[in-house]
Amino acid sequence: MKNKYNAFQILTKVYRHTLNAVPFSGASGILNYLVQGLFPAFSALIQARLFDATYSLTQGTDTLTIIILYGSLFVGSYAVANILQFISSITINAGIYERCTSYYNMKISEKTATLPLIAFEDVNILNLQNRAKDCANREILSQIYMSSTVIITKGISVISTISVLAAYNIWFVPISIFSVLPYFIVRILRGKEFYSLKKAQTKKTRRLDYLWGLFHNKQAIKEMRVMGFGEYLAQRWVETRDEVNEELWKQNIKDRKSMLFCDTLKIIGYGLSILLALFLAVNGHISIGVFGACIAAFKSMQESTKSFLIDLGTMPEKMAFANDFFEFLDLTEDQNGKRSIDGIKDCVLSNVSFAYPNSNDYALKNVSLTIHKGEKVVILGVNGSGKTTLSKMILNLYPPSQGEVRYNSILSSDIDKNSLYSYISVVPQDFVTYSLTLRENIAISDLKHLQDDALIKQALKLSGLKSLLNEVGSLGEQLGREFGGKELSGGQWQKLAIARGLFKKSELIILDEPTSALDPLIETEILQKFIEIAKNKTALIISHRIGLCKLADRIIVMKEGQICETGTHYDLMQKNGEYKRLYDTQEQWYRK
Ligand code: ADP
Repeated sequence: MKNKYNAFQILTKVYRHTLNAVPFSGASGILNYLVQGLFPAFSALIQARLFDATYSLTQGTDTLTIIILYGSLFVGSYAVANILQFISSITINAGIYERCTSYYNMKISEKTATLPLIAFEDVNILNLQNRAKDCANREILSQIYMSSTVIITKGISVISTISVLAAYNIWFVPISIFSVLPYFIVRILRGKEFYSLKKAQTKKTRRLDYLWGLFHNKQAIKEMRVMGFGEYLAQRWVETRDEVNEELWKQNIKDRKSMLFCDTLKIIGYGLSILLALFLAVNGHISIGVFGACIAAFKSMQESTKSFLIDLGTMPEKMAFANDFFEFLDLTEDQNGKRSIDGIKDCVLSNVSFAYPNSNDYALKNVSLTIHKGEKVVILGVNGSGKTTLSKMILNLYPPSQGEVRYNSILSSDIDKNSLYSYISVVPQDFVTYSLTLRENIAISDLKHLQDDALIKQALKLSGLKSLLNEVGSLGEQLGREFGGKELSGGQWQKLAIARGLFKKSELIILDEPTSALDPLIETEILQKFIEIAKNKTALIISHRIGLCKLADRIIVMKEGQICETGTHYDLMQKNGEYKRLYDTQEQWYRK
């Protein structure tokens, strides 16, 4: 894919951000590189004068004062260049890289926080975010900053030195070009090949990261040990690593051979320059001083060119990563509506269809439904029928692809999400087991009441966790193994998640199968209790089990992204359709 930004635009952005993140270090770096760039040409000029003055002194035609003057200038400029280099090495070591990395990571976090949630379903955006993180953590933007200043320095140095040489004799110019041009051509060609190789290797390197990650994942390690496939995975990692290294090695060898060819031409060029300078000196076209200075300047010019082109060759790859970073920063942010609401009277979905990003199939097709205040609704359906997606529409987490969602007749996109969410509570399928205190695990959903012991104890009691407080000792007790606290059973964590959901003073609460891993009878028991506690709220319970359906005011049966039936348990049994079919298959699970 073509980059969005060209090299100049990327450089401008990198400079702006670096000078923003580290103004002093960044600016002193630039000053140092400018001086370093002009130093070789300046020293060639002074050197020639110094040599000539020394020669004249031996002939008795010049005075010692002139030598001292040129000598001091030469040593002085050398000292200034070194002092600046020293200062800039301190400022660079004092953190251009580290401080910029944390600055760029902060930019990624800030951006991530403002993205619409639907962006996290988009593989392209997730990949872009990954590459942006990679760019920040591998310090690529700081490298671009440093390399570009070095390239500019060396560029100034090469051009100014060639100009000085050209002033002595124009033939130095073609010899210079002949001896350094091959580096340029080779770097461009090999640089392109290297970038293409790296890009082609992305899948393999991602697989390496993935396999490596498995060896650091608790669940995977357990399974590996018991099932005995650890060695197989390790072998796959080794094979992939070897493939990647082999390809890089081949490219490296090719690169080294080309560089050897260039080095040979460089040496030939150097030899020619000495011959030319000798010829000019012998024929009296240049002085002895200029002869010596030319040879020294030519060599320094060649070295500068070599490193300049080597830095330049690695730029296309870095630029591609930087482009990803800046494209990530450009992503459209979440749009929040402006209208506040005063409670949730109803939620109406009209002809809502929804397809996930990068997917051609609709997860929801033409769904219309109204949820009234105070209703207890069960959304039932087999796995993959669209229940969770429907709940995301109701929660205004994702915008529908077609159709509309309204709360109290206000369009979902016009509503201020903070206002809406102040009335909603959710207990998701993959709820989090927080390694925090027992108090925080409950009251984190309504921080105003974090210190309200009576309210927290009531929530514990209501969600069947009264004995937990005695077990752990106090509300301030740490939970979870992570920090040496008490570990709870799966059921206890689930009840705690429900208690947290209920603790928030919400009007609408959505439970997305947080108890589905439990035995159907225990699940029903917990959910029955939940309905009792949530009696003043609108409650939406998503389930693939029929356990709770008899207690619901309404059951919405989903099939292949559509609502196929709706009604009470008794209505739907009469209908003899999908609900009856599910009921007949599951009914045995609920016999005591
Ligand atoms: P349920 O909650 O009933 O199990 P979901 O709403 O999770 O069903 O899924 C409905 C459909 O949407 C399924 O076909 C599923 O594969 C698809 N789906 C769910 N999440 C994503 C996603 N992030 N990206 C693409 N497709 C998805």
